[in-house]
Amino acid sequence: MLTDLLVRYRWLFVVPVILPLSVLFDLYWAIRNWYYRGLKNAPERHTERVRDIQAQVRQWRAAGGRRPLCTARKSWMNVSVRVVRYKRRDNTIRVDLYDILAIDTGRAIIRVEPGVTIGQITCYLIPRGWTLPVVPELDDLTVSGLILGVGIEGSSHKYGLFADIVEACEVVIGDATLVRATREVHADLFHALPCSYGALGILVAVELRIILCKPWVRLRYHPVYSLNEACEVFAREVCRPDPPEFVEGILYARDSGVIMTGDFAAGQEHANVNAIGWWFKPWFYKHCGSFLEQGGGEESIPLRQYYHRHTRSIFWEGELI
Ligand SMILES: Cc1cc2nc3c(=O)[nH]c(=O)nc-3n(C[C@H](O)[C@H](O)[C@H](O)COP(=O)(O)OP(=O)(O)OC[C@H]3O[C@@H](n4cnc5c(N)ncnc54)[C@H](O)[C@@H]3O)c2cc1C
Repeated sequence: MLTDLLVRYRWLFVVPVILPLSVLFDLYWAIRNWYYRGLKNAPERHTERVRDIQAQVRQWRAAGGRRPLCTARKSWMNVSVRVVRYKRRDNTIRVDLYDILAIDTGRAIIRVEPGVTIGQITCYLIPRGWTLPVVPELDDLTVSGLILGVGIEGSSHKYGLFADIVEACEVVIGDATLVRATREVHADLFHALPCSYGALGILVAVELRIILCKPWVRLRYHPVYSLNEACEVFAREVCRPDPPEFVEGILYARDSGVIMTGDFAAGQEHANVNAIGWWFKPWFYKHCGSFLEQGGGEESIPLRQYYHRHTRSIFWEGELI
């Protein structure tokens, strides 16, 4: 009875309590990141923090190491609907690694700690004219979650999964040794890490490939009116010899959907500018659905707002509140 009431009137809890708390949470992280990067030189403290993780693993071994290790990250912080019951005091490792460590534009590499979020990376890279080849949409997703879990995006037809843009991983393994795995060195560990859900060790740093970008996306909306047409348009776009940078499709019903194709664009190509990220703009999937009636269209969207187009409404889940 109580559960039914709470589910039915969940907006009473979500709107006045959860939404203000999440604004404060975001504010805390913005200030924290600015403070550590700007004033505390976070990268220089990385080695110290990794030593602390190694010490925790040694302690776990000394205590008998009975339960498999995992991170102490609270389950409410994961972008997941899973209820986590296996984390206990004697098998969790605190992994306080949330910072961008270095950018090497000569090698086209960014080195980051595993708890860095996609939102932090886009904020850091785009003003410098760089981006990740694969940028999963929700800005709270973490680098470690996207490698050890899974990560995919509208550019994956060109670049593969998020794990495919990884060039090196640094891992503290079960005997507390720090190992750097690449395609050439410790290649078995490197290839086994994607989708391993933390079973092979604690990830402490990652090198990701980066590419040059432009500050806008020119996005084309193609309405489709049957499942066959949706599959045809989607397959045609992703299989082109020189495919668009981004391809995404949303189905609104069995016989109606919109396929979107996009490319990076420089400032002077603006027409139909739409800054979709503003709070007063319609949720992206609603806006996209409006092209079913308009019969297609084309817009210029600021790149970072395009990348995080589904963050505000968590795709279409916002409507369930
Ligand atoms: C509502 C929703 C929307 C989503 N949207 C997208 C999307 O837009 N694009 C996309 O690609 N995917 C999406 N996903 C899937 C998502 O990418 C995966 O669920 C991802 O694993 C979650 O990332 P996280 O940062 O919360 O990682 P977590 O759930 O915290 O971590 C994933 C696994 O890795 C382990 N782990 C994490 N850090 C470490 C570490 N440092 N060392 C060792 N082990 C570690 C954790 O224990 C866990 O087993 C979505 C999922 C949901 C529920």
